[in-house]
Amino acid sequence: MISSNQASPDGVIWRPEDRPCPVCRASEAIWIGFRGGDAHRHGKGVRTNVVCCSSCGCFYSRPTFLPLSNPYSKYSSEEYFQWHDSQQKRIIGEELATFAETLQGHPGRMLEIGCGRGELLEGAKSKGWSVFGVEMTPEFARKAKDEGIEVEIASVQKATLLENRYDVVLLSAILEHLYDPIEILVKVRRALRRGGLVFIDVPNEGSLSMRIGNAYMRLRRRPWSVNLSPTFPPYHVVGFTPRCLRHVLTSTGFKVHTLRLPRWQNNLPPFRSFAERIEFVGLTLIQYLGSWIGMGDGICCWAVANDTPIAAYDTLSGMESRHAAG
Ligand SMILES: [Zn+2]
Repeated sequence: MISSNQASPDGVIWRPEDRPCPVCRASEAIWIGFRGGDAHRHGKGVRTNVVCCSSCGCFYSRPTFLPLSNPYSKYSSEEYFQWHDSQQKRIIGEELATFAETLQGHPGRMLEIGCGRGELLEGAKSKGWSVFGVEMTPEFARKAKDEGIEVEIASVQKATLLENRYDVVLLSAILEHLYDPIEILVKVRRALRRGGLVFIDVPNEGSLSMRIGNAYMRLRRRPWSVNLSPTFPPYHVVGFTPRCLRHVLTSTGFKVHTLRLPRWQNNLPPFRSFAERIEFVGLTLIQYLGSWIGMGDGICCWAVANDTPIAAYDTLSGMESRHAAG
């Protein structure tokens, strides 16, 4: 049964809608746990069910809670990006541009969807790329515009910049925020020239830290999930595993070039008690172990738009190891 609209503590109203898997449209799913509201240790968001699609392994919430206003606009860029290191992101932008140039032979046109403050594009611009960004939240885009980057303030669905052609599209930490990732990847595929590249990084919902986090909740007799954050920052509404991401890419006209699973930094809130301190240290150790055994926290992936001479790209596989996630 679908409940009525609900308000989260930050004042956002959420409308529930029963949707099937956002990746493969199957409706069978395994219940993972509750997330948000009274199923969050600081009471953030509203209570939702996190489920995992039985068919493709995608994580999503059911019912899906859709915001009636832009929830990101409740936060300043400093609050929202508190875990992001701007200088490091600029360096990653340079590395992504260099990698793409190695594959394509020259700098070209690069578009970033959900460019936030634009640091990745700044880095790419310094390497000679023509850069463009789409960002839904004006407060986030202001910084990018101050750096002279052309940014269209629009939702991904309405962005006119996607009607142009690009050599590279960056989807860095964005796909997990979109309720319909397939729709966006189809648009990105159309916006890429033949042989164009897409770079994606998303959290790995099947990582060792997620699996142990859920088991830890059961151990504490809490039917909670640590996957996703559908109704509170950073608003991860759709979750991928490596298998699921490959499925998404091949079904939208891409060939996966390289895919790796790096460790991400520990983003647990500052500990307030001894128990929380133990949790923080434990998670850090699990994150190291996860990346060591191939179950890291993130998925970083380069994919090539299909109907291109793929063999030319395959010779360069293995180069991705230097490139970290944003
Ligand atoms: Zn599915």
